[in-house]
Amino acid sequence: MSVHRAVRTPADINMPGWYGILPPPKAHEALRGHYEADWVIVGGGFAGLAAARRLSQLVPNDRIAVVDAQRIGWGAAGRNSGFMIDLPHELGSENYGGGAEHDLKQIRMNRAAIEFSGSAAEEYGLQRFFVRAGKFHGAATDHGLAVLREFENHLSGLTEPFERLDGPQMKKITGTEFFVGGTFTPGTVMAQPAGFIGGLAEGLSSRVQIFENSPVTTVQTGRLHTVKTAQGEISAPRLILTVNGQLESFGFFKKRLLHVFTYASMTRSLSRTEQATLGGEPHWGLIPADPMGSTIRRVGDRIVVRNTFTYNPGMSTSEKQINQIGQAHDRSFRARFPMLGEISMEFRWGGHLCLSLNSAPAFGEIDDRVYVAGCCNGLGTVKGTLYGMLVADLAVGTGEPMVADALKEPSPNRLYPEPLVAIGAPLKLWAMQKRAGREL
Ligand SMILES: Cc1cc2nc3c(=O)[nH]c(=O)nc-3n(C[C@H](O)[C@H](O)[C@H](O)COP(=O)(O)OP(=O)(O)OC[C@H]3O[C@@H](n4cnc5c(N)ncnc54)[C@H](O)[C@@H]3O)c2cc1C
Repeated sequence: MSVHRAVRTPADINMPGWYGILPPPKAHEALRGHYEADWVIVGGGFAGLAAARRLSQLVPNDRIAVVDAQRIGWGAAGRNSGFMIDLPHELGSENYGGGAEHDLKQIRMNRAAIEFSGSAAEEYGLQRFFVRAGKFHGAATDHGLAVLREFENHLSGLTEPFERLDGPQMKKITGTEFFVGGTFTPGTVMAQPAGFIGGLAEGLSSRVQIFENSPVTTVQTGRLHTVKTAQGEISAPRLILTVNGQLESFGFFKKRLLHVFTYASMTRSLSRTEQATLGGEPHWGLIPADPMGSTIRRVGDRIVVRNTFTYNPGMSTSEKQINQIGQAHDRSFRARFPMLGEISMEFRWGGHLCLSLNSAPAFGEIDDRVYVAGCCNGLGTVKGTLYGMLVADLAVGTGEPMVADALKEPSPNRLYPEPLVAIGAPLKLWAMQKRAGREL
């Protein structure tokens, strides 16, 4: 028997806009008392809920429980920008691409995950939160354009479709003259992340028992595994950990995970006059030519700006840090939408990304009947879903071929020794963001 006590549990601060613009969530159940189940899943984000859904399909008579430290949708799953991207999306590269063979496999697997989410959207009536709209890449500079040309060449090599747009075409969509060119790729789903993840949990709740606001403080593994919270516990023969970077808080993948935060601000609702002044299309999502630039989304009457990465090994941010970075959001907003003047941001938030040095996920069976799916390197809406569904296949032993592919991937590499990481990680992020220049 081994006991893993969490040295910290998640406590995300500031309401993410995606959560804030939804009707208030329904009452929830917290874990109190002793429960027994056939499967216990810790973490109710994209990975945890994908695992729960896949299990409910594979072993429909089994008792499945999910425990999350926070409300569903309050963590990174409801804090992200909602780009469910089918194509390679290497944040650490200069143009999102990787090696061709690796990329083709990733595309196939990403699309399987998107289809898995799409079938859930259909089953639970969540289509308004899951829109097959494609994504734009926007370039603000000649350097950005050059990066986009490289990206397009990479896509041509993979025989993936794309559309090239010039400045006026970008203005027609976004309303702004900021972008000198762009590239459209059709396979991305634009999600309302908190709406989708909350709806997924609600849809699953008739078959899966979901406990919220119940931080797991101890994981005890043995013949029966037990996860414990302050007021309750669940025992089950099979345990799936889908807590993303918090894996390290339990002592798993120690010194192998990089805890990075990124931040977003969402405007107040724009009036009809302001929307007319802005022009462009009412719904679009744009990622920057340079991976370190600003992601912008327009969702009807609101605009969301996401930028800035910080290294937060303590796995938390502060209001001060969020507000400071909010000033960078305001600058990026004003540079793109000068015609709107001063528009206040109604929501500002930050959230935890788990990265590894070699962009590898934490996936597999790490102890007898203890499984993990996490560390999705910034594309967790898709990769979390992918590894969540595959970890269920792995645990049930279905022989799903993608499980073998996932198991062949490397594990997260060991980080450099301290103080190299503490000094090097923020410096590297700073240099990469500096390179983004006007794309920020
Ligand atoms: C601002 C921002 C923008 C982003 N944009 C995108 C994007 O456009 N597209 C994209 O694909 N990704 C994006 N991401 C990343 C994406 O949100 C994550 O990769 C994704 O949420 C990871 O999914 P997950 O299920 O593995 O982990 P999470 O979503 O982090 O879920 C893990 C869950 O585990 C719970 N948990 C942790 N510890 C415990 C514990 N001890 N007890 C109980 N529960 C626990 C947490 O509360 C959390 O709900 C963005 C992230 C941020 C912050």
